Amino acid sequence: MIKLNELTKVYRTDEIESTALNAVSFEIKKGEFVSIMGPSGCGKSTLLNILGMLDKPESGSYKFLGNEVAHLKEKGRSEVRKKNIGFIFQNFNLIDELTVFENIELPLLYNKVPASERKQRVNELLEKIGIAHRTSHFPQQLSGGQQQRVAVARALITKPPLILADEPTGNLDSSHGNEVMELICDLHEAGTTIVMVTHSSHDASYSDRIINLLDGQIISEKKNKLVKAAI
Ligand code: ADP
Ligand code: MG
Repeated sequence: MIKLNELTKVYRTDEIESTALNAVSFEIKKGEFVSIMGPSGCGKSTLLNILGMLDKPESGSYKFLGNEVAHLKEKGRSEVRKKNIGFIFQNFNLIDELTVFENIELPLLYNKVPASERKQRVNELLEKIGIAHRTSHFPQQLSGGQQQRVAVARALITKPPLILADEPTGNLDSSHGNEVMELICDLHEAGTTIVMVTHSSHDASYSDRIINLLDGQIISEKKNKLVKAAI
């Protein structure tokens, strides 16, 4: 599904040039659940943003679903993104002015799904994530755990083949974090490809493979034996 070859990203300001990713190459197969780990500033979010086509690399190749997308213009990138990718961020990134229902409905609006189908799909998902009683609440009226469950619902409402999660449990206590990880694991079991940045080796233990980054380079990669042993 994903194939990176020698991907490099350089951030430039007037005085400083900093290489956030330095010739990163790897493949992720359809249905895989991959964790990306490494210390702060090593390039994890930069990598995820490029995978999600929110940002462009300096050089190198990025093949997504068989097509080269590394140097597409914004219009092309947003089309691929809308159709194929759901995002989950550490700080939830919900829209404060919209209700729970409207936040989850938004990606369906972008994809021009008819109103009656939107209503049905959002309500089904609200039931599934256990916040059907909060439909008309606003994000600020929910706990962090509930907000992140809404954010997960928003990411998966269009049933995208790829979910990208940047420290999805980073702002949650362990019990709320576990609820969010359960939703992510359900998605994985249903066949969704997942790439998750995490600092938590507990959360990473749910994935099939862990990629370790340091200073913008892959320093090690390992299959997760715990998960493999459990299957
Ligand atoms: P991580 O997510 O692993 O903490 P990032 O991908 O956010 O790391 O950042 C990697 C490096 O790139 C860091 O040195 C950071 O300072 C730099 N960086 C990230 N975003 C920008 C930006 N928009 N402008 C300049 N430098 C950036
Ligand atoms: Mg980061």
